[in-house]
Amino acid sequence: MLNWEKTPSLKPMLRERAWVEVDLRALAHNVRQVRRRLSPTTDLMAVVKADAYGHGAIAIAQTALRSGASWLGVATIPEGIELRNAGIQAPILVLGAVNTSEQVEAIAHWHLQPTLCNPKQALVFSETLGRLHGAAPLPVHLMVDTGMSRLGTCWEDAAEFVQWVQRLPHLNIASVYSHLATADDPDPSMMQLQHQRFEQAIAQIHAVGIVPPRFHLANSAATLSAPDLHYDMVRAGLILYGLHPAPHLVPDINLQPVLQVKARVTQVKPLAAGTGVSYGHSFVAPHDLTLAVIGIGYADGVPRLLSNRLSGLVRGQRVPQIGAVTMDQMMLDVSAVPDLQPGEIVTLLGQDGNEIITADDWANDLGTISWEIICGFRHRLPRVTVNAPQEVSVMGG
Ligand SMILES: *Cc1c(COP(=O)(O)O)cnc(C)c1O
Repeated sequence: MLNWEKTPSLKPMLRERAWVEVDLRALAHNVRQVRRRLSPTTDLMAVVKADAYGHGAIAIAQTALRSGASWLGVATIPEGIELRNAGIQAPILVLGAVNTSEQVEAIAHWHLQPTLCNPKQALVFSETLGRLHGAAPLPVHLMVDTGMSRLGTCWEDAAEFVQWVQRLPHLNIASVYSHLATADDPDPSMMQLQHQRFEQAIAQIHAVGIVPPRFHLANSAATLSAPDLHYDMVRAGLILYGLHPAPHLVPDINLQPVLQVKARVTQVKPLAAGTGVSYGHSFVAPHDLTLAVIGIGYADGVPRLLSNRLSGLVRGQRVPQIGAVTMDQMMLDVSAVPDLQPGEIVTLLGQDGNEIITADDWANDLGTISWEIICGFRHRLPRVTVNAPQEVSVMGG
């Protein structure tokens, strides 16, 4: 895979074909908006798994930490190592499961913090760390399942699990946490049940005399809708990227989308009525029109299922995409744009003038969620950061 940042000869080509534009000022704005809703004693974890939801993990993590986040969340060990290699020193929680002693060694070596889901896994951690010479006690985070039915020990056994880990050498309980299954549902009843179960687990953990330094439960949706679920930290992903977890939460906060997807026009030509366009001729020109080709396709992460349903924005106007999206290119009907030239920029996701196309628009058309859309852009598309917040000078002048 080409590394756009580390290959000098690629730099001039960043915006030549198609790219993902990442607005760091928008990210900083969103982080501050979220931070303002938290009590001063509640930490903000920026969830930057999956390459920061497709935005590019390093720039996002650095900007989030400068804007009010104090923890980072990743899904895998390599995601954590990438951040450490970039010089990031903030605590990093690995949200995914980690089971082998090789993984334990990597966690310890890179100063990552694992999620422990059950007693057996905790034992592997303790024993592996015991074999490593002079390893400091490892901060670990215990996952309790209160209804997500994904990772974790059942809430009813939480106190027993916490006691078990407490007794194991080389492990330091840094938090106990759980994850919500339905926080974006307008009906809060399941979330309230998970909250009750979490409260019950906390009470039982306290009853056996253990006081973990922090509890956490909230994702983006609960961060917006349920301040009583914030506890000592919230783990926010989607809202930091400027998207809304659910339509009913839109009025609650002012967010700015961080990501835009843009591509350049590569050819413009007239198309006669009756002419078919692209593989399968799923579009046939109903009248004479002007066709533009742009250099982006499904291998870049534009879903082929959106063929003939997408729009592009060019010179502030919305134009329809026509014919099947191909691997590397797609076509637009640009009859409404006079004298369009190769090299002009088409926005597929984002804003141009007063027109805006959101990840939710694509998600709604596809019957999926905006999380999947933004994670779907491939690494053939360079991530181009814009509006990097200026470093505050501490030198004075
Ligand atoms: C992905 C993830 C989050 C963030 O979820 P958002 O809905 O994007 O805020 C929080 N916690 C855990 C455990 C996750 O896996």
